Amino acid sequence: MPLQQHLLKESFAYLEPVADKAMAYLYGRLFAAKPQLRGMFPPAMDVQRARMFQALARIVRSADSAEDLAAYLAGLGRGHRLYGVLSEHYAAMNEALLATLRRFAAETWSPEVEAAWAEALEWVAKRMTEASNAGPGDPPPWWLAEVIGHERRARDIAVLTLRPERPLAFRPGQYVNVQSARWPRVWRAYSIANAPRPDNTIRLHVRAVPGGWVSTALVAHTRVGDTITLGPPMGAMGPPEGDRAVLAVAGGTGLAPLKSMIRHPPHPGPAPGIPPLHGARPPAGADHLADLAKLASRCRRLRVVPVAEEPGYAGARGRLPDVVARLGRIADHEAFVCGPARMVDLTVQRLRQAGVPPSRIHRDVVVPA
Ligand SMILES: Cc1cc2nc3c(=O)[nH]c(=O)nc-3n(C[C@H](O)[C@H](O)[C@H](O)COP(=O)(O)OP(=O)(O)OC[C@H]3O[C@@H](n4cnc5c(N)ncnc54)[C@H](O)[C@@H]3O)c2cc1C
Repeated sequence: MPLQQHLLKESFAYLEPVADKAMAYLYGRLFAAKPQLRGMFPPAMDVQRARMFQALARIVRSADSAEDLAAYLAGLGRGHRLYGVLSEHYAAMNEALLATLRRFAAETWSPEVEAAWAEALEWVAKRMTEASNAGPGDPPPWWLAEVIGHERRARDIAVLTLRPERPLAFRPGQYVNVQSARWPRVWRAYSIANAPRPDNTIRLHVRAVPGGWVSTALVAHTRVGDTITLGPPMGAMGPPEGDRAVLAVAGGTGLAPLKSMIRHPPHPGPAPGIPPLHGARPPAGADHLADLAKLASRCRRLRVVPVAEEPGYAGARGRLPDVVARLGRIADHEAFVCGPARMVDLTVQRLRQAGVPPSRIHRDVVVPA
């Protein structure tokens, strides 16, 4: 793998405090050089900028683990089929990325750093292009799905039942990107709330965020009979294979995919004595805790340990990654980590320090940094 991690990390650190500004510059460069690419992106670019930065950060941080990085890039490449990305688009993006890094990391920039980035970006583009080239038997880039159920559970919450036009193979705990006809080219991720069903339908629980484009469209402006578009199932969560002990670590809303994994067979359940950890801030975590207690009452092998930084909350005290670091012998476990970007990054670091190999750490970010 041609990634010189220390050079990438050192220079990327200059972008971190000005992430949004740097990503705005990146897309400005890209669209100035290739105006025809603007049409592939949504009208508002804030989420896109956040996702791009998160992907770059992930690439830089996992540059020392070839296996982890290759799996991540393959998923990203397959996901890009949704947008009609072609190999020549990667070249244009890489040029804009180099220009951005050169400008924002000027203090540390040198021919050596430039060469390291050029090589790394080319390598990344190659991995993503390979993954996005569909072979025979590969799933389509997107699915049309009919809304066959729309239950408004609260003013801001709806449960949508969808029937994709073709079978959509997924693992419990995965998510799909969704596009509403109201907002073309605007894609948002939603966890699939059910296990695979014989009738091929899926259920999404959507909470409308104030001023949110897609969530509001799905909760307030979608009816039975409407058609929406789904991307391929994504994400690293899924029932663990084999019989290793399982360590599940969820931060905030990252609990939903893990609950889905735990609920749906053939998941063997966490090993006795190894609890799924859930970091929550009261009172927001209270709903989840009630739900977990119900789950634990049905599954004898499941023990729930709430983790909170604030006092006055039952369970372990501290930040989730630190509680994970105090768990003791976990090197032989299969670990699943799902939650906000920072929590996921730190927890993965602690797991690595505790001796869990990257191939046995499955991670998904549900709230970008
Ligand atoms: C892997 C993954 C799985 C997800 N699963 C689910 C799910 O099952 N159900 C679900 O409802 N959502 C889920 N989300 C969040 C979802 O993808 C959208 O981010 C969310 O619905 C907001 O999109 P929007 O277009 O409505 O809002 P946007 O137009 O993107 O944002 C509008 C405003 O709301 C703010 N905002 C965005 N998201 C949130 C938030 N979560 N809370 C508070 N403010 C916010 C933005 O900063 C912005 O100011 C998931 C996200 C990921 C990454």
